Amino acid sequence: MLDCIIVGSGPAGISAALTLRANGKSFRLFGSSGLSEKISKAELIRNYPGLSNVTGQAFCQALQTQLQASEIAITEEKVSGVYALKGKFSVLTNEGGAYESKTVILACGVENIRPIDGEERFFGRGVSYCATCDGMLYKNKTIAVFCTTKRLEHEIAYLADLAKHVYLIPMYKDLSIARDNITVIRKMPTKLEGGMRITGLRFATPPLDGGSELLDIDGMFMLRESVSPAVLTGGLQTENGHVVVDRLQRTNLPGCFAAGDCTGRPYQYAKAIGEGNVAAHAVSEYLSENQ
Ligand SMILES: Cc1cc2nc3c(=O)[nH]c(=O)nc-3n(C[C@H](O)[C@H](O)[C@H](O)COP(=O)(O)OP(=O)(O)OC[C@H]3O[C@@H](n4cnc5c(N)ncnc54)[C@H](O)[C@@H]3O)c2cc1C
Repeated sequence: MLDCIIVGSGPAGISAALTLRANGKSFRLFGSSGLSEKISKAELIRNYPGLSNVTGQAFCQALQTQLQASEIAITEEKVSGVYALKGKFSVLTNEGGAYESKTVILACGVENIRPIDGEERFFGRGVSYCATCDGMLYKNKTIAVFCTTKRLEHEIAYLADLAKHVYLIPMYKDLSIARDNITVIRKMPTKLEGGMRITGLRFATPPLDGGSELLDIDGMFMLRESVSPAVLTGGLQTENGHVVVDRLQRTNLPGCFAAGDCTGRPYQYAKAIGEGNVAAHAVSEYLSENQ
């Protein structure tokens, strides 16, 4: 069993991985080979000590080179659930992967787009964050798909193959998916409605010509770069959407640590990298105390 699983390949996750490698621990780092759009899209970084006026692209390249030199590979799978089970963690991914570890570091960042009203209430009752996990439940049904990144278009395609109709709400410009059963809506929904399960998606004004403000749907998929840590990890204590941690980056779940933007402001590289480092040292201490 792995010593640790790190969820997220941004500055916090990378920093944690480098420290765990230095401490001789076994681990798996989940994320993407592009590391984090919050690194690559930064125009110019002026506030990171030692790197004055570096572009986000150059910073990203330097981190990738450092990971390679340290022989740290990134597992390009999206973690869909982290389950604490008697002294170990079971981690599942959208791609069907299942992994086990003694500890977990949540370094999944924060999503800039706010949750839609009703999203938490209907989670598991019509709201899903994983196309491959739950797509089959919506075979021949009408669904809405809210997607924040082009990187997840393969998940839209998978859902469109199954569903009768897809109302697609992309939050990015260069959309490159088109199907007969996909209707693209360029408006932000305001609310999810229903009783025990979702039945409708409401907009401030009719999203389609001549239609109503309420679209009838059977389910809604939220395809985001970052899923809220509370959704990923049952029983995790959060406050205002951030994971509650102590000075050692420990969460309320023994063996589960968190670092970076997901623990709160300021949203900055230096804080994320510092917390990733502290979390990795705390993991090493936890492992020696719980051998
Ligand atoms: C345009 C822009 C410019 C910025 N400029 C600066 C700056 O100049 N100086 C500064 O200090 N800060 C800057 N920031 C803020 C900085 O980018 C963030 O504070 C920092 O990236 C946070 O690091 P993180 O590791 O916590 O999260 P992130 O960088 O958000 O990384 C999280 C990673 O985890 C991945 N992930 C999330 N959920 C999962 C999952 N379930 N499974 C697998 N992977 C997952 C995400 O895809 C992402 O790659 C900027 C941010 C933006 C958007």
